[in-house]
Amino acid sequence: MSVALPLPPGSAIGILGGGQLGRMLALAAARLGFDVVVLEREADSPAGRVAVKLIVGDYTDEAALAELAAATSLVTYEFENVPSAAVDWLVTHGIEVAPGARALAVAQDRFEEKTFLNAHGVPTVAFAAANTPDEAVAAVTALGAPALMKTRREGYDGKGQRWIEHAPDAAAAFAELGGVPVIVEAAADFVRELSIIAARGRDGATAVYPLAENHHERGILRRSIAPAQVSQATADQAERIAARVLAGLDYVGVIGIELFEMADGRLLVNEFAPRVHNTGHWTQDGCEVDQFEQHIRAVAGWPLGPTKAIAQVEMLNLLGEEADAWAKYAAEPETRLHLYGKRGARPGRKMGHLNRVKPL
Ligand code: AMP
Repeated sequence: MSVALPLPPGSAIGILGGGQLGRMLALAAARLGFDVVVLEREADSPAGRVAVKLIVGDYTDEAALAELAAATSLVTYEFENVPSAAVDWLVTHGIEVAPGARALAVAQDRFEEKTFLNAHGVPTVAFAAANTPDEAVAAVTALGAPALMKTRREGYDGKGQRWIEHAPDAAAAFAELGGVPVIVEAAADFVRELSIIAARGRDGATAVYPLAENHHERGILRRSIAPAQVSQATADQAERIAARVLAGLDYVGVIGIELFEMADGRLLVNEFAPRVHNTGHWTQDGCEVDQFEQHIRAVAGWPLGPTKAIAQVEMLNLLGEEADAWAKYAAEPETRLHLYGKRGARPGRKMGHLNRVKPL
């Protein structure tokens, strides 16, 4: 590692990706005195407009990566589908990238991810990989229908997924998903979806936030309630899971871990994201130090901040034209508005979120 840590204020931090997560990371970094340099494909992006420098280019464009490497010696990312070649290039050229390449590789492949989790004593639904239509049918037969087929790579917000009601249907579903390698998952009969946001510092110290309860619509997060009402046993279980994942990946930064709460109280991990997470947006107005500052602290080698809740929060995503009602929300005394400055309000596009806060 060629970067001297802790990274002092005044240094530059690079972010791969220019979306809203990058924007909120950049704002948090700025508060701590850092300059942010963003590498992003689009010329006009939420993070690009709050960064001191925007490099427009593909993540695998070596000239763009070289420009990033010239501007900073520490790089993080805001989405998990950053090509591993980009991270490899940066690391080879002496740039410190956090979270590391292993976390990224494991999180990019749903089969590798669940295999990693089980190997580290973290429970998931039963699952199987399939590379052909016949293997897909065999996987559903073995796991039992209904089962959920997901592309191993590149799915998000419920995209790249098909429910299979009868095993023979798996062959057509496999083709519909593009004939690419898939994972078939047993259906989780969960009572609630929860998530835990956690962080690990350079020194191995960890911090966890209170759990959030999450509600999705058509595969997209709509609402989080946090801190979620959970038993001490559930909170302890989630913390144990987070500790295993963080240690198993030798992780540095903030991670978002999505959980299924089963009727018997067990928690299964659905997936994790090696980055700040939409279900952690409530921490901006509900916790002592929010997930964005925490991530910057972790990657910069600073001490982690306290994660205690200071308010009860309902986080609502503003999708598409919902963000046009900003004036109404701005007039609500309990509402903290976070808008991403995106240009086109396509249906379902995350344009912003709001945190409605109440005293604990
Ligand atoms: P994912 O893309 O894996 O985050 O899945 C999106 C949503 O689909 C989750 O938030 C769940 O609501 C649902 N889901 C995913 N996997 C399963 C499963 N194995 N069983 C039941 N529901 C699932």
